[in-house]
Amino acid sequence: MEGCVFCGIANHEIPSTVVYEDDQVIAFRDLEPVAKTHVLVVPKEHYANLIDDVPADTLAAMANAVKRVAEADGIEGSGFRVIANTGDDAGQTVHHLHWHVLGGEPLGAGLL
Ligand code: 5GP
Ligand code: ZN
Repeated sequence: MEGCVFCGIANHEIPSTVVYEDDQVIAFRDLEPVAKTHVLVVPKEHYANLIDDVPADTLAAMANAVKRVAEADGIEGSGFRVIANTGDDAGQTVHHLHWHVLGGEPLGAGLL
């Protein structure tokens, strides 16, 4: 989608630090990390968020990418958190579907 920063990253038009990539998904480090591991898992197709009609195989590819990211950062054993900010009340700022993968240190309880 025109002007979408995550479409730009998925197309390799905007630089990012890529952790994992396949034909459906790209996972890259957040520009402003809030934990030692803070990676965004993003479908290459543009969907606004989980309320959009996201195909099941895209969601499965994202779930697989989460595991690959955890393995890449060696946090599959210590644990991690996956967050999908969806819409205004969640404070979604980039309107291209993405899952935050947070870990590498104790995360605390927060809201959850
Ligand atoms: P949201 O609040 O929409 O769930 O999170 C958007 C995330 O995207 C934020 O954590 C923000 O730091 C990250 N972000 C925004 N623009 C860029 C960018 O150009 N590159 C990278 N790597 N991360 C970005
Ligand atoms: Zn996009």
